[in-house]
Amino acid sequence: MNRIPLVDLQAAHGEVAAEVRAGFDRVLAATAFVGGEEVRAFEEEYAAFAGTAHCVGVANGTDALELALRASGVGPGDEVVLPANTFIATAGAVARIGARPVLVDCDPASYLMDGQAALDAVGPATRAVVPVHLYGQCADVPKLAAALPDRVAVVEDAAQCQGATRDGRSPGSGGIAATSFYPGKNLGAYGDAGAVVTDDADRAQLVRAIANHGGTAKYRHDVAGFNSRLDGLQAVVLRAKLARLADGNRARRLAAARYDELLAPLAATGRVVLPVTVPGNAHVWHLYVVQVTGADRDTVVARLNAEGVGAAVHYPLPVHLTPAFSHLGHQAGDFPHAERAAARILSLPLYPQITADQQQRVVDTLAGALG
Ligand SMILES: *Cc1c(COP(=O)(O)O)cnc(C)c1O
Repeated sequence: MNRIPLVDLQAAHGEVAAEVRAGFDRVLAATAFVGGEEVRAFEEEYAAFAGTAHCVGVANGTDALELALRASGVGPGDEVVLPANTFIATAGAVARIGARPVLVDCDPASYLMDGQAALDAVGPATRAVVPVHLYGQCADVPKLAAALPDRVAVVEDAAQCQGATRDGRSPGSGGIAATSFYPGKNLGAYGDAGAVVTDDADRAQLVRAIANHGGTAKYRHDVAGFNSRLDGLQAVVLRAKLARLADGNRARRLAAARYDELLAPLAATGRVVLPVTVPGNAHVWHLYVVQVTGADRDTVVARLNAEGVGAAVHYPLPVHLTPAFSHLGHQAGDFPHAERAAARILSLPLYPQITADQQQRVVDTLAGALG
């Protein structure tokens, strides 16, 4: 029995293997290992794809968030509002600055941050709000930005939504967004990588400086920075994959629609709750997340895994219930929508190359596991 992985990185590599090898040869010949021509070209191509004026390639998505927050004026002691149901890195980036994450609940249907709860959480120490474009669809950034006081920046966590738009708007457009090119993301490198995209030339320059020891020229240090630069070899991979990203996202949409169809009978019984696309969203399906009701989620996932289906949970604990953020002083019950989702959700295998037969087997196996 062939395993159906959550994400098929081997299949993705097959499509770009020759191009990647040729690009690696170029980098090796030029010994342009950090920065260089490939990085410059990728930044230009990704900015064009994202529809923003600037793209700064960095070492990973968590750094991208930290850099975007710092370039937006967030410093030690400031408060940053973010959803409780996100990958831990969103809160981790805030904590690393010495700022305080202020968590809010999510919408129970879309899992996107509850925009009103975010506004209600803004206080005198708030410097930024971080909407997370979770699972591949975008939160309503213009609405949020319009309702916030001028001193509060919107810094988008766009790690899961490369190529997504909402009402035609791309993440970072008119503001600033951080993204991750972790291998499993829609646009994945062969190691860690990330980027900040923005239309704001000043913030782009500041990100570039902080990520390069605080200066844009060698041995000139205008601000205290650190090292978070993009490698030439990773840029080669990202350029090859970026050229295929729109096609990959289209294939993900078709696969998501096929899951919707195949799962409709289970959804009709109420035992599976299907993902909801918020109107206006061009969803890129980083993850296809369903809820199971009336069955123990962990048992269902274990059964799927035992039968060769690479289901997983994104994420089993909301940020406020992790030991790392226990000092925020929350308890179970504080964010009921995030907590209920965390107990019930599971992600089904989804990648551009998944076949109809594989999806049928995933759904049959899930039906069996639900008993
Ligand atoms: C992947 C991810 C990050 C962090 O990216 P890394 O490249 O792993 O540092 C941040 N936020 C979200 C929502 C993510 O999915």
